[in-house]
Amino acid sequence: MVIGKGILIGHLVTIRRFLLTFTHDFKIGEFFKRRGGGELAVDFFTRPKNQTTVKQDYTTEGIFTVEYPDERLPVYERFRVLPVLVYDNEDGNVRCTCCNICAKVCPPQCIWMSQAHSPEGKPVTLPEEYYIDMDVCMNCGMCSEYCPFDAIKMDHNFELSNYERHQTHIYSLQDLLVSSEFYAKTHPDAYASPEEVAERGKVTKKKDQRLQKALQLSRG
Ligand code: SF4
Ligand code: SF4
Repeated sequence: MVIGKGILIGHLVTIRRFLLTFTHDFKIGEFFKRRGGGELAVDFFTRPKNQTTVKQDYTTEGIFTVEYPDERLPVYERFRVLPVLVYDNEDGNVRCTCCNICAKVCPPQCIWMSQAHSPEGKPVTLPEEYYIDMDVCMNCGMCSEYCPFDAIKMDHNFELSNYERHQTHIYSLQDLLVSSEFYAKTHPDAYASPEEVAERGKVTKKKDQRLQKALQLSRG
C-alpha cells in the first residue's frame, strides 16, 4: 500500500467536486447567478435588506452562497444547541421542580440550582435559582432526556456570541425560561408526538398536585 494514497484520492475528489461546481453553472448559463437568495455572484451593493431563509439540500447544484447574517440556512428540528426551561402558557407556571436530576446527569456538571422556600421557610418544589454555564455545556441533551417533568428542552439558538464570557454566559432562570407555545413552534413534530403528548399529560397531573401543596405551604 502506497503511503498517502488515501490523502491524495481525498484531495482529488475535493478538486473534482470544486471544478464540477463551476462547470455546472457554465453549462446551464448561470455562472453569474448564485443560489442563496441574492441575484449575482458579486452583489456587494444589492444585499437583501431583511434576513431571509434559504434552502440548500441534496438537490442543490452549482455555486451556493449564504450571506449570513442577511441570509441563513434553516435548522432542522432535532438540531440542538443549549437547554431552555419551559413554563406553561396556560398558567404561567415553571415546570421545573428543582429535583436536581438534570444537574446530576449533566456530564460536565454545568447546571446548579437552589430550591424555593415558603414564607415559613419550608422547601417548595420550585427552583429559586437555576443556572447553566453555557461555555461548559457540551450540548449533549442528557438533561432534557432525563428530566421527569418535561421541564428542560434543547433549543436551536446558536447566536450566542458576546463581549464577555464570565458573567453573560452563565444563564440564570430568567434567561433560560421559554413558553410552552414557543417550544411547540420550534419543535412541532416532537410536540405532537404520542410520547410527548403522554408525557405532558402525566406532568400536568403531577404539577397540579405539586402546586396545591406549594400553596398550602405558603398559607402555613
Ligand atoms: S429541569 Fe427537570 S430534571 Fe432539572 S431540576 Fe428541573 S425538573 Fe428536575
Ligand atoms: S446539554 Fe448536556 S452538557 Fe449541556 S446542560 Fe444539558 S446535560 Fe449538561
